[in-house]
Amino acid sequence: MDLRALDNLLAERGEPAFRSKQVWEWLARGAASYEEMTNLPAALREALAAELPISTLELEREVVSEDGTRKALFATADGRPLETVLMSYRDGRRSICVSSQSGCPLTCAFCATGRMAFGRNLTASEIVDQALHFRRRGEVNHCVFMGMGEPLMNLDAVIEACERLPDVGIATSHTTVSTVGWVPGIERLATDGPRVRLALSLHSAEPDVRSSLMPVNDRYPLDEVLQACLRWREARGKRVYIEYLMLAGVNDGPDQALVLAEALKPHEAFKVNLIPFNPTPGELTGSSPNQIAAFRSVLQRSGLPTTVRLTRGRDIAAACGQLAAGGPGTAGSASSIGSRPAAASPPLP
Ligand code: SAH
Repeated sequence: MDLRALDNLLAERGEPAFRSKQVWEWLARGAASYEEMTNLPAALREALAAELPISTLELEREVVSEDGTRKALFATADGRPLETVLMSYRDGRRSICVSSQSGCPLTCAFCATGRMAFGRNLTASEIVDQALHFRRRGEVNHCVFMGMGEPLMNLDAVIEACERLPDVGIATSHTTVSTVGWVPGIERLATDGPRVRLALSLHSAEPDVRSSLMPVNDRYPLDEVLQACLRWREARGKRVYIEYLMLAGVNDGPDQALVLAEALKPHEAFKVNLIPFNPTPGELTGSSPNQIAAFRSVLQRSGLPTTVRLTRGRDIAAACGQLAAGGPGTAGSASSIGSRPAAASPPLP
């Protein structure tokens, strides 16, 4: 729902201000059409149905993984592709992984999104509509900004979307914004907007290795990024989650674990999540489970809390780093619900 267009339309028709709130409350509770909005006058419902689409996004297709993970591919009104993933867990957690941009201007070596053309920043309404899509199917209660794009390059819209999510059922404390280390965005998140959680995609504590994986490291070197994270933590009083992709022979040696443990100080400011690599086109391969376990024990012995991320949705190319809207890196061409595998990885613990 384009919430600004809604306000304009209601104002043009001379409707009272509370109508906008009524429409939003229906949407946030999962309404799929104006018809359901029974506390609006019938004439208004008809006018809205004729003039304003219920979503800013067109669903192109949806695929379901063997593990139940769902991936939706959408197009914006101007034809930009984006993807959103829903992960459901036995404990009742239903976590959506949303995109903040169509494509991504950054070109991390391991991520499929960086290989598709960058489209543009998504609007707050386009971000919220991803959540509303899955809300129409049932409850959603966690959100991670780990889909396409770099959320801190689109912070105004991300903040506005985060402010809406609690109405949809996702508490601010259950919302995580993940960044490559976009320093000005981290600084702003320390003071502006809801008190969301912060995750940093780190992947190496060695400057040249990190730069080779993530060119953004040349712009915002890791020490500046970690200083910004510590200021965020000071302001918000929460740990920073560190995402660390495990790449065979690149960043997974025990010596590299020690460098990481040294960089992440004080240890109580951080929690590390090791991420098994989800295949994307290119030379990189993932570390073996043994290698991941060994890396983890070095970190834990050094006093750094460390978990290993479960990977989900890989059979439908819905796992972390695999979102490419049918472009390079996706598991297959168009498929319909329940028909095809792909890859996706899950949220923070
Ligand atoms: N730009 C933000 C948000 C995208 S998050 C960021 O980078 O944090 C995407 C998450 O998926 C990040 O943790 C990223 O490091 C991880 N990821 C990217 N490619 C991956 C791959 N091929 N396998 C597993 N995880 C990957």
